[in-house]
Amino acid sequence: MKNLPSLGSLATLLSISLAISGLAQDGSAPASAKELPQFWKTRLEHVDEAVRALKKGTASVIVETPGRRSVFLVSYGAAEDRKGTANYNSAVGGRDPFSYARKDGTQKPVVFLLGPVHGHEVEGIAGLLNLIQVAETGRDLRGREWGELAANLAKCRVLIIPCGSPDARARSPYDSWVGIDYAVNERIGMGTRPDGSNQTWPFVKQIHPMRGPQVGTLGAYWNDRQINLMHDEWFDPMAPETRAFLRLARDEAPDYIVSLHSHAATPELMQTSYVPWTVKETLKKLGDRLQKRYAAASLPHRASGTEPKVDGQTFPPPHFNLVSALHHTCGAVTFVHETPCGLRTPPYPQVNHEQLLDLQMLLYDELLRYAVENPVNWSPGKRATAP
Ligand SMILES: [Zn+2]
Repeated sequence: MKNLPSLGSLATLLSISLAISGLAQDGSAPASAKELPQFWKTRLEHVDEAVRALKKGTASVIVETPGRRSVFLVSYGAAEDRKGTANYNSAVGGRDPFSYARKDGTQKPVVFLLGPVHGHEVEGIAGLLNLIQVAETGRDLRGREWGELAANLAKCRVLIIPCGSPDARARSPYDSWVGIDYAVNERIGMGTRPDGSNQTWPFVKQIHPMRGPQVGTLGAYWNDRQINLMHDEWFDPMAPETRAFLRLARDEAPDYIVSLHSHAATPELMQTSYVPWTVKETLKKLGDRLQKRYAAASLPHRASGTEPKVDGQTFPPPHFNLVSALHHTCGAVTFVHETPCGLRTPPYPQVNHEQLLDLQMLLYDELLRYAVENPVNWSPGKRATAP
């Protein structure tokens, strides 16, 4: 049920005029904070609050964005000294990843959770702020206990960037997409052409940086320098955020890295292009396990994890995106996770906030379980385990 706004501010008058014009009911108006569950925290000020409230976790700012916003990193578990004698690429050239990071199967797994780099894909922010609450208290922001997840968190070093692109997030007036039309989500994410029509995929990626005469309003895919952080120039990055992510991966040598995204369809743990076949097989295994968890919880799911594919057997070739680049920086199993976002437009799955949060929490639960069960061992002479 909608709360009637009280009189007295311009924002209130605007809400009333939207309600009178019917916009609040037609699947296009953003929900007000009062209409959203209290556990659904996706705004930049929510990230600031969570960072300020940390007791067990440690916070740092890893980079300032072109829009002068801070990208926060929250970490749990002490860093272990695994530094080798070479960067990853040279170590692999020397047929010995251990020369980059001395992973011997006895150390804490390192898991890096990169929050949304696309600003309207807010579901991952809600998920990661709930994960931080679990790391702090054992319970999510609903008060639900996550015993095994909390125990596994304590066995790992966990790096959490709650929001990967604050510039992009600041450009989305929507804190939730539950009950909203697909076209609105597309307009906010991809922006508009000069004639006011929506930019659409895949054409929206055919201009980059996203500026010039074909751009009307800038969507939430981009930072304030109009860079889509999934598609930067990896060998000479255009965005300071990209440099910071790559540096963090190089310094920490994570075993697993997930980049959190949202789309309209059922959830998918995606395959990563241009990574070793062993990594693709791990992603299939992880995907199978995750989809089973979703099915068991009666959440939207697919029949299985996504099958690995050989890259580039057809034209056009697959793209070498942020998670491909992160893999080649540190050797981690890297992947994109896409979650539905609750749009009301058929045929997309209808999901509420509880379910959206469960989809996130089960991903973290399964990923950390897998990381703890499969310690990485790069010791020379031993058969390497995942990644
Ligand atoms: Zn995305």
